[in-house]
Amino acid sequence: MPKNAKVVIIGGGVIGCSIAYHLAKLGWKDIVLVERSQLTAGTTWHAAGLVESGGFFDETTVGMASYTLALYKSLEEETGLSTGFKAVGHLQYATTTSRAEELRRVAAFARAFDVPMEEISLEKIKELWPLAYTDDVLAGFLTSTDGRVNPVDVTMALAKGARMGGVEIFEDTTVFEMVKEHNKVTSVITDKGEIKTEFVVNCAGMWAREIGKLAGVNVPLQPTEHYYLITEPIDGINADLPVLIDLGKYAYYREEVGGVLLGLFEPVSAPWALNGIPKEFSFGEINPDWDRMMPYIEEAMKRIPALKNAGIHKFFCGPESFTPDLGPMMGLAPELDNFFVAAGFNSLGILLGGGAGKIMAQWIVTGVPDVDVTEIDIARMLPFQNTPKYLKDRAVELLGYMFEEGFPNKHFKTARNVRKSAFHDRMAKIGAYFGEYAGWEYPDWFAPEGIEPKVEYSWGRQNWFEYAAAEHRATRENVTMMDYSVMGKILVQGRDAEKYLNRICANNVAVPVGRIVYTQWLNVTGTIVADLTVTRLDEDEFIILTGDGTIMAVQAWLRRHIPSDAHVFVTNITSAYSVLNIQGPKSRDFLSSITHINMYNDAFPFLTMQEIDIGYALVKALRVTYVGELGWELYIPTEFSLHVFDTLVEAGKEFNLKLIGLQALDTLRLEKAYRDYGGDIDNTDTPLEVGLSFFVDFDKQGGFIGKDALLKRKAAGLKYRMVQFLLDDPEPMLHYGEIVYRDGKQVGYIMSGAYGHTLGASIGVGPVENEGKTVTADYIKSGTYEIDIAGVRYSAKASLRPMYDPKLARVRC
Ligand SMILES: Cc1cc2nc3c(=O)[nH]c(=O)nc-3n(C[C@H](O)[C@H](O)[C@H](O)COP(=O)(O)OP(=O)(O)OC[C@H]3O[C@@H](n4cnc5c(N)ncnc54)[C@H](O)[C@@H]3O)c2cc1C
Repeated sequence: MPKNAKVVIIGGGVIGCSIAYHLAKLGWKDIVLVERSQLTAGTTWHAAGLVESGGFFDETTVGMASYTLALYKSLEEETGLSTGFKAVGHLQYATTTSRAEELRRVAAFARAFDVPMEEISLEKIKELWPLAYTDDVLAGFLTSTDGRVNPVDVTMALAKGARMGGVEIFEDTTVFEMVKEHNKVTSVITDKGEIKTEFVVNCAGMWAREIGKLAGVNVPLQPTEHYYLITEPIDGINADLPVLIDLGKYAYYREEVGGVLLGLFEPVSAPWALNGIPKEFSFGEINPDWDRMMPYIEEAMKRIPALKNAGIHKFFCGPESFTPDLGPMMGLAPELDNFFVAAGFNSLGILLGGGAGKIMAQWIVTGVPDVDVTEIDIARMLPFQNTPKYLKDRAVELLGYMFEEGFPNKHFKTARNVRKSAFHDRMAKIGAYFGEYAGWEYPDWFAPEGIEPKVEYSWGRQNWFEYAAAEHRATRENVTMMDYSVMGKILVQGRDAEKYLNRICANNVAVPVGRIVYTQWLNVTGTIVADLTVTRLDEDEFIILTGDGTIMAVQAWLRRHIPSDAHVFVTNITSAYSVLNIQGPKSRDFLSSITHINMYNDAFPFLTMQEIDIGYALVKALRVTYVGELGWELYIPTEFSLHVFDTLVEAGKEFNLKLIGLQALDTLRLEKAYRDYGGDIDNTDTPLEVGLSFFVDFDKQGGFIGKDALLKRKAAGLKYRMVQFLLDDPEPMLHYGEIVYRDGKQVGYIMSGAYGHTLGASIGVGPVENEGKTVTADYIKSGTYEIDIAGVRYSAKASLRPMYDPKLARVRC
């Protein structure tokens, strides 16, 4: 056992072994992997081994899955150990029209990334699985390159590859303590001795939460029961059958030694080991609960009637880790500076394992991930999500959610009402339908009087379409109010605050007191790590306003880039203020009818902040907009919230003030093509490609982090540009992932879409490429565009400038 290592990887499942393999591939030496039992003993040994790349609807996951398949195919040649990979294909059934539409959208997206997911005929559907009942199947999709592996063999091959690259693997070695110094773990203590180290990687599967606690790192995941059964051999079942994914019945089927392996993703699942994972759990199984699973098995028997007469060879239940939002937790933990996590793979750890290892190794070695990680970065997780009750309540829904239809704007049903703004109950009374974001309940839209605020999901216009349209119009034509309390608020104070913030911000924040600055924060490669506003409250005081889901990442970035001896103090004051967002051409008249402050342009220009009186309260009013109209965000000390709300509602009667929700905000901001970090822009973009160069101050004194890289990119020419699209046909809906064609050639896809009620059709934004060449404004202007929605192409207009109010006349009025 070495006393020193550059990297200590904790956990010898598929993920730990894959990271070890990929770190070695990148040429790193002195890597040690420790495993408390034997390799694969946690969850990996009993996985069903499905590996697929068709069926995912985001670029990062498709990329991880595709890379994994290619790796598992090639590992034998490299290591001499087979992974058991067999490309039998994956066949997915759609038994409802909305599911068929979803899979058509997903298939088009998959094909754009070279995954051959194709819709096949009903005859072919029958032919591929002759024993399946298919009278209710409306459509079928086959990805012929997908298949299955043996998870133990995969892990052993990765481990062998890692060893060949110099990695040392120690089994029967348990980590039980960490030594920390200055935000770093300096030693990992195992029952076989201490290892001093530069980097720690927590790949401990369902134990990752406990390992995280040893280092003070938040890793919210919950082991949950996960089932399959294996039958005795059945006539007509053979090893060449594709894996059959029966989404509507929460089931999948594949061949296993001549019988059927039936796996289940039941809609109400059972969290496991709520009082801690049993100490000796290794190659462990959980006693199956037949009664709970019987209804799903019966449904599966309707699909494959031959199951009824088959003997059961094995009914298996094992634990798998699930995360609160069904994304894995990967990357550098925000609490520390050398502690990486890769855990919580939500039943996809084998099929994402290769890609996850590659991303992690690259992230560890360079410090900067090279794919969009906004939905997998562990820094998105909040401390409250690690409470046992939250994990237990949310876990119940997660397994089944994966097989349910992924409708646009869908929300989890469990573990709700966690964080409520002060206005919540008032909003509920007025008819709010609540969505959830980072635990907050926020109004998504408001049902008119007499109508129950209940959503009916679809891929077309959902039942609230007209309500959101009315909210949209009221904002464009009159004045509206929105609960914006979900904004994360961070106070940065101290004599050195300006100096260090100005180095972190790409825009210039050395501005007079009262000025609001919209800015991005960049890493050394020039790509965006945060997109937020900084408002100067005083000489030595700034407030940062950011989405609450990024609050941990933003605080970590500040800590990492402000020297500990600088006179700067960073405080999360999210709970200190409620926020109401007043927007629309009549917002000035409305607020002027209440406050004694002059709200006119000469006294209160765009992008400035002043304290104004609303009734008995003093609130910070920020003249900014995310909807493209005249407006103010009001930051209200929490205890004054209801008084201010009531005062505004009362005064609003005269102005026909309307409450609006996040759906209206989304359509408004997309018409104006305002960017959304994590939605349409991410950590792989620089401000240049996504149209934010205007907010970069290349000339400011002292420069900023990422400036050199940005200048280099600028000189090299932009390889893609963020473009706004408007469909010519007013009917179809853009949501996400629709493929964009220019002059018949695929050039990009829609990152965010919604209906533009003012522009009169669906709008979307997305990157447009030019086969690796520079994308100029002329190139964008000169093309003819079409967008593929579920297999049908619709013509669209494209613009680099916002189609709504490009000159900001309405904002500055
Ligand atoms: C029934 C079932 C079927 C599945 N089917 C599939 C499938 O078909 N396809 C798919 O992609 N995924 C599937 N999965 C999911 C997949 O098995 C997991 O996502 C994956 O195995 C997770 O790998 P891991 O390396 O993160 O965790 P693990 O395999 O659990 O590895 C973590 C390791 O860390 C070790 N460890 C813990 N604590 C310590 C410590 N203190 N010191 C040292 N070592 C420690 C553990 O012993 C363990 O070996 C399935 C899961 C289940 C339960």
